[in-house]
Amino acid sequence: MADRFPKATTTSVTCDVLVVGGGPAGSAISALLAEKGWNVHVLEKDRHPRFHIGESLLPHSLPMLERLGVLSSVEKIGITKYGAEIVSPYHGRSRILYFSKALDGSQPFAYQVKRSDFDKILIDNAVAKGVHLHEGVRAKQVEFRKGSTHLIQTEDQSGQPLTYEAKFVVDASGRDTFLSSQLGGKHRNPDHNSAAVFGHFEGVKRLPGRDEGNISIVWFDHGWWWIIPFKDGTTSVGAVCWPSYISTRKVPLEQFLKDTIALCPPVAERMANATLLGQAYAAANYSYRRQTMSGDDYLMVGDAFAFIDPVFSSGVHLALNSAILGADVVDARLRNAPQYSHCMREFQRTVRLGVKTYSWFIYHFTQPAFRNLFMSDGSILKMEEAILSVLAGDAFGKSPTRLPLFLFKIAYYLVYLFNFRENRAAHRRRVRGVPETVTSLKDYAVPHRS
Ligand SMILES: Cc1cc2nc3c(=O)[nH]c(=O)nc-3n(C[C@H](O)[C@H](O)[C@H](O)COP(=O)(O)OP(=O)(O)OC[C@H]3O[C@@H](n4cnc5c(N)ncnc54)[C@H](O)[C@@H]3O)c2cc1C
Repeated sequence: MADRFPKATTTSVTCDVLVVGGGPAGSAISALLAEKGWNVHVLEKDRHPRFHIGESLLPHSLPMLERLGVLSSVEKIGITKYGAEIVSPYHGRSRILYFSKALDGSQPFAYQVKRSDFDKILIDNAVAKGVHLHEGVRAKQVEFRKGSTHLIQTEDQSGQPLTYEAKFVVDASGRDTFLSSQLGGKHRNPDHNSAAVFGHFEGVKRLPGRDEGNISIVWFDHGWWWIIPFKDGTTSVGAVCWPSYISTRKVPLEQFLKDTIALCPPVAERMANATLLGQAYAAANYSYRRQTMSGDDYLMVGDAFAFIDPVFSSGVHLALNSAILGADVVDARLRNAPQYSHCMREFQRTVRLGVKTYSWFIYHFTQPAFRNLFMSDGSILKMEEAILSVLAGDAFGKSPTRLPLFLFKIAYYLVYLFNFRENRAAHRRRVRGVPETVTSLKDYAVPHRS
């Protein structure tokens, strides 16, 4: 690898830890490492506040935000989300699932936040703890040098190169997957693929009273919709669709978003008086993961390791969780501490468990059998409470969800068999979409890949 590394420019910054990416994962891990006394630098190719998707938080993220010292600030920018409204045009009705009914009801609400504000709070918090932030600086390549410090080539927005020298590199570059792009090993998810079109709107009808801040999830023939209300009266609305549907696009993205809204009456009804604010956005071909998430002197946190479909709003939660556990790994490694192996095992086990827990639900969410089970009232053998626990972010084995979730899966397969033809057709449709690549959309989050 060293021979492919371009000749170094003037090395001018040395540090203990270099974090690539100043999203939730990068801000969280850098803040915690700075707290532990390490000299941490963060590179962010963009400048905060900046647009980002991923606006619905989970209740079990709140203790993590408290741990980081930002919960009261997040509270001020967020609207309270007590649950999720699930709308099924196939059943002609909706139902609201409340987090307070989860097995561990200790976290009965979360917040919906504009990511521009949320991410700014997190990065400001890191800087306040002593992190050195370099905005408008993109990491381009890293040279790992065995038994020595590692060199990271960067470039600022004017094209000025600069080399950083660090003992440890954290990849928190999100779906840009900075290290995977260089080292390889990133695999598209063989079981799932989808793409999304979305935007911020004003004038979207809200749920009444206390439910105003809830997320709405709406099934439709090409995938599913989210409606996420914000505190300032605006709303995030987006559709996650099979690539086969997105590939049919012949019109500009904004028109495509409007046409897609018209295909889903429950969403169209809430958006009868809505206006798009700014532009429409897209994210394509986005379910992937990597076999490994670490090496001797590097770690991948958040989306840099894996990205799963956002139907359960799990992205920020998984990113924060991996960052918090990752901070202990990096700290132990830098101190050469005996608990390093234990921290690493715990980090890897928990990160994989989180991704796994959500994945089964994501793969089956749009199946008729799943819809039927989700829309049926009443809970048998704590199955609903267990699902609510997962929806609330209790996904790392804290509550005894294993047995009820197992029973739910059995119930799912029985309902599937009961209506075999319809379910098999839906399954085939989803699986057919997996190898497809959406080439017509440029991912908003990675406008200028190099
Ligand atoms: C359509 C869609 C809907 C979603 N909805 C939700 C939701 O409702 N709730 C939820 O929790 N999650 C949601 N997510 C997921 C969520 O967006 C991510 O999981 C979350 O942002 C991950 O945080 P992160 O810090 O790992 O990455 P990011 O938030 O993506 O941060 C990475 C940062 O790294 C920077 N960067 C990238 N490359 C470089 C480089 N080479 N050098 C310097 N900087 C770099 C980027 O500019 C960015 O600021 C959604 C995702 C999508 C695509």
